[in-house]
Order: sequence, then C-alpha cells, then structure tokens
Amino acid sequence: MSSVDKRRFKRFKKKKIWPSVFAFVVVGTVCVAVDVLFLHLCILSVLGTKVAGQYEDVAQYGGELRMLTEGGTPLQDAAEQLFAGEMAGQDIYVTGADGSVVYQTGDSQPNFDRRLDIPLLDEIAALEDSAEVFTGTDEIIDVYRLARRDIMGNALETKRKDETYMQFMKTPVFGQAYWLGTPVPESGAFLYVKCRMEVERQDVFFALAFGIAAQVFLLIPVILLFIHTIRSAVLQKGLTQLIYMDTVTGGRNWLYFKNYGERILTRLVNNKKAFALVNLHLERYQNYRACYGVQAGESLLESMDGFLSARVGRNEAFARYEGADFGLLLQCDGDSDEERVDRCRKRIRSLLAELTGLRPNQKIHFDAGINMIPLHVGPDVKWYSRRKDVDIDQLYTYANAARVETAGTEEQRISFFDEDMLGRQKWERWVEDTMETALRNEEFEVYLQPKYNPVTGKLVGAEALVRWISLSTGLITPSHFIPIFERTGFITQLDDYMISRVAKLQAEWMIQGRKAIPISVNVSRAHFAQEGLADNICRLVDAYGPSHDLIELEVTESAFFEEKEILVDTVKQLKAYGFRVSMDDFGAGYSSLNSLKDIPLDVLKLDGEFFRGSEDDGGRGEIVVREAIQLAKNLHMSIVAEGIEKKEQVDFLASQGCDMIQGFYFAKPMPVEEFMEKMEKDA
Ligand code: C2E
Ligand code: MG
Ligand code: MG
Repeated sequence: MSSVDKRRFKRFKKKKIWPSVFAFVVVGTVCVAVDVLFLHLCILSVLGTKVAGQYEDVAQYGGELRMLTEGGTPLQDAAEQLFAGEMAGQDIYVTGADGSVVYQTGDSQPNFDRRLDIPLLDEIAALEDSAEVFTGTDEIIDVYRLARRDIMGNALETKRKDETYMQFMKTPVFGQAYWLGTPVPESGAFLYVKCRMEVERQDVFFALAFGIAAQVFLLIPVILLFIHTIRSAVLQKGLTQLIYMDTVTGGRNWLYFKNYGERILTRLVNNKKAFALVNLHLERYQNYRACYGVQAGESLLESMDGFLSARVGRNEAFARYEGADFGLLLQCDGDSDEERVDRCRKRIRSLLAELTGLRPNQKIHFDAGINMIPLHVGPDVKWYSRRKDVDIDQLYTYANAARVETAGTEEQRISFFDEDMLGRQKWERWVEDTMETALRNEEFEVYLQPKYNPVTGKLVGAEALVRWISLSTGLITPSHFIPIFERTGFITQLDDYMISRVAKLQAEWMIQGRKAIPISVNVSRAHFAQEGLADNICRLVDAYGPSHDLIELEVTESAFFEEKEILVDTVKQLKAYGFRVSMDDFGAGYSSLNSLKDIPLDVLKLDGEFFRGSEDDGGRGEIVVREAIQLAKNLHMSIVAEGIEKKEQVDFLASQGCDMIQGFYFAKPMPVEEFMEKMEKDA
C-alpha cells in the first residue's frame, strides 16, 4: 500500500469511534466519581446532624452542672443531683480538675486511648466506649452495606399491620455506642455522656433515594454516550465491510488484499516463510460475457471467489483485482527454493484444474503468473527485522508480467517471474519509447554483407542488414529489436526506410560509375500482409531512380504460410516491376516445398542451419543440401547459401553449383564505406 493510501485509510479508521470512546470513558468516570462523592457527603451530613443533636444535649448538661457548682454545690453532689432523676440509667462519667473520677454511673466508661475521628465535627471530644469497639465511620456511611444487612437480617420484613409508617421507618438498622465529652466551664472538670448513634431505615432510604436519583441523573449522559459509541462502532464496522467488499464477487476487494497482504508479509513470524503472489487470470472473459451475458460472467467470478475462499488458508489472502484477474497471496512451504517453487507450481496447477470444472458444460481456461517472495532470512538480516517496503501492487505487477509474457500459448499456463523477464520487459518498453525518435534521428544504419561467387571468388552481391547505432546505448543488433518492431507494426516503417536507403545508395553508385551489384533488402512478413506493398516499394525506389533489378527483396519462408494469396499477388507484382524476390531462411523452420511450387521466386536462400548439423551424420546433411540445390536449379532459381563459416563448406557448395555464398568465411556485415572498399577490390 502506498504511503498516501495508508494515510487515507488510517484517517478513515480513526474517524468517529475514538472521540466517542474517549468521551464515554471520561464522562463515565466523572459521573461515577461525582455520584460516590455525593452519596458520601449525604451520609456524612446525616451522621453529622445526629451527632450534633446529641452533643447539644451533652453541652446543655455541662452548662447545668456548672450552674450547680457555681452555686457552691460540690461537683459530686451536683452530678448526683442532676443525673439521678430523669437521667437515671444513662451512663455518665465525670472527672474533676485533677482528672480523678468524681462521679460514674453504668458499667462502661469512655476509652480515653481511642478518640474518635468524626469528620465535619472534629471539635467535639468523641471517645470510644470501653465495652463496645467502634466499627468506624466507613461502615456507617456504606449505606448499601447497611441496606443489604438490613434485608439479609430479615429486619426489613414487610410492615406489620399494627406498626405505623413512622415506627417502621424509625427502626434502626445500625447502632453504635460512643461517648461525647464536654468541659464543665470554669471548673476544670469534664462531663462524659454515653450516647448511641443509630442509623434508621429512613436514613438509609433517604441516602439510597438520593444516591439513585443522582445516579439516574448523571447516568443519562453516560448512557446516551454509550449508545452513541456503540452506534459509531457498528456504523464503522459496516463501513469497513463496505469499503472492503468487491461489488462484483461479493467477497473481499483489492483494498483489503493490499492491506491484509501487507500485514501478512510484514509479520515477524512470517519472516521464515516464503510466499507467492499469484495473478490468476480467466482467459477470454469478455468473450464469455458476450456469449453468456453479463450476469453469467459476474456469477462465474462470484463462483471463483467462493471457490478460492475455500482453498486459501488463514495466513493467506486473495481478492479480485479487476476484470477476471485475481490476486492470491499463498504461503509456500518447503526446505529449499526449488522445493518451494515446485510445490507452489503443483498447488496452482491443481487450483487451475479445479477451477476449470466450475462450469462443467462450458470450456473455461485459466493461466497464472507467479512472483515468488523468498524467506526474509540470511546473513544480512537480523532475526527481529521484518520485511520492509512491501508493495503488494508492485509484487502483483510482476506476477502479472510473468503471466502476460507467456499467455495464450498453451492451456493452463503457469509462469514464474524472474529478473530476466523484468529486464526483457524494461528493454521492450525502452525500444517502444525510443524507436520513432531513433528513426527520425537516423540512428538506423545500413550494413552490407557481401555475397561471393564460390567458384570465381568475386563479390557478386550484398544483403542490407540494419544496425541501430543508438545515441544512448551504442550498437544494437537486429535480434534485439526486430521482434519488437514486428509486434508493434513499426517494422513496416523500418523496412521502408531501409529500401529507400538502399535505393539511394544504388543511385549514388550509378552516378559515381561504380560496378552495379544487386543488394537484397529484408521485408518483414508483417509488411507482406499489407495491400499495395509492391506499389509502395516501387514508389520508394523510384524516388531515387536506380534500376529495379539492382534491388532484391527477401521474404522469410514462414511468411508463406500466412495470407498466401496476398503474398503470391505481391510477389508477382514485384516481379512485374522488375524486382528480384528471394525466399530467406529456407530450411530454418518447417519448410514447405509447396510454397516453392506456388510462388514464382527468383532466389532461394539456404539457411545457415543446413550447415550447422553434426559432422558425423553419415553425409545425410550433404545429401539434403545437394537435393535442395538441384530442386532450386530445376525451378530456375538462383541459390544463395547463408551462414557459411568454413572453407570445406565453400568447396562443397562450389562443387554443387551454388551461385552465391554469404557468410563470415568471406565477410561479416559492414558499414557502407568499408563495403565500398571491399567492392573495389573483390567485385
Ligand atoms: P537474415 O536476413 O537471415 O540475415 C542473415 C543474418 O545472418 C544476419 O544477422 C547476419 O549477420 C547473419 N550471418 C551472416 N553470415 C553469418 C555466418 O557466417 N555465421 C553466423 N552465425 N551468422 C551469419 P543479423 O544482421 O543479426 O540479422 C538477423 C536478422 O534480422 C536477419 O536475418 C533478418 O531476418 C533481420 N533483419 C536484419 N535487418 C533487417 C531489416 O532491415 N528489415 C527486416 N525486416 N529484417 C531485418
Ligand atoms: Mg535476409
Ligand atoms: Mg537469412
């Protein structure tokens, strides 16, 4: 995935969901915290009010005790007087100015070692009771626990019939003894009164009601936010599924493949695994759609998708690229590169075989290009380093290039990508990009290869062979660009150019009074498919005016197998215009003697292959050459033997009456100036 794609995709994925989740978490936390705090404060204020009420009573007793002692009554008597009556039964503890106990009722007494910490009212001296250990304010303010204890302890039984509502609500659910102390002013004495803190049902109800109300109130935004977050998540999941869906197959699309494929390849655990990126192609899909309908075509792709999803494993991926092309990322196990390649080939072959059976009554073909992705290990690779810069599109392009290079030649073809293939394809592109400019810049040069009479040793003819003297690359021989020119159709322009150049040369030599030597020019078979070729050649030659019989046109033998009628017509017309026509490369491929019968050719050029056979063939090669020469002679054709490199070959051909020899034995193709010097000497 390119960096731009990645950025866009991340932006999409991060949209909406994270702000919602973040807001939900923040607001939720704040709400819970506020709720707990409110409940806490609420209970504390209830407790505070209760303690404050009891303290007021104690302080009032302290005031009364002071009045009595100021009136002269001793402290002990004053205490007895004050607490014996209506306060009888209440635990009281009075200490004098020296700290000694002056008066005490009840069994228990304040525990002076344990001062209680009552929040909000810390100026009050609150002390734990010696007989009843204080459970702590935390327990009291844990209103939920109190309520639960009340229910569990069956205290919260349904209200009895004889019980008033107030009695029911006033029933305590928690009680705790403690002492409140107050100084008796001016006397140095202290009065301690044992009190009881009681949390009643109404307190618990109040706190619970308040807490629940606060919770409901605060939870509304939290719930709304929660719903919003869930909706965003669902929406995003749906959107993600949508952007990852292929609208034709209903399966995953290319974006998913790139994203997931990249994740697979960059996973650390996959470093020691090899993969193959495969371009799977259904042949003649457009034809299938045209014949069976668009819907049938799309249904076939859908079936392919379904089939592949059952065959592609967890650590693998696939998706449709476009048209009827699918990309597959497959894991290739094996102990060596060869084994991995072999297994991969077998797997793809069986996949293709199964795919062919998808439509039992229809003939469908597939081919595949495979780009192997090797293990990411080796001396330079650290064990923790992942595959970097994985570009699925590029890897797929190479797989596709491998497929395209060999497509259409054989059923179910499987081809592997390699660097040479890339080099070839880059070369082809360069040739295609530069050929027109090169022709305009006259970068194509005529080289001439002499033809000799083997008996006299005289130079009697020449073949014009093109050389591309590229300004950037230097000399390029025809085999590197002629096939590309033939494929693109540019060959016709080159052939025209060569014919013009040779015509011009012949015209110049004529003016210069040089010896007339016929020169043959190659005419591509692609050219022969054109109507009016003879007229065109005639026009090109006549532009310079040399005699037509000085120009010979070479047509390769293979051209005679296609478009025979046009070819025969063209040859006849050329001959009528006075040009000589030769059959080039006779014997290089599948020769057909029939073509010699049907086409009135002037010259037969025996291919160098004839002479490159094994030495110990029992003389069979010589018999074939001899008979071929005899055949041509009987058909009144001249014979040129090409590719002759050895003296024995020359001698043999001379003895058989071969008219001309063209080969490195005499001379290689050479620039025109050099040829002219040779012509001066040898012609
Ligand atoms: P061709 O027309 O059969 O040309 C003969 C080829 O054989 C030439 O290769 C030549 O250099 C080579 N040759 C000649 N004698 C010997 C020998 O003794 N030993 C060996 N090993 N080779 C020898 P070249 O120049 O590389 O051309 C290759 C082919 O490219 C030509 O085969 C022809 O088919 C094509 N070609 C060359 N120039 C043109 C052109 O201007 N137009 C067209 N259409 N095709 C051309
Ligand atoms: Mg030739
Ligand atoms: Mg040839």
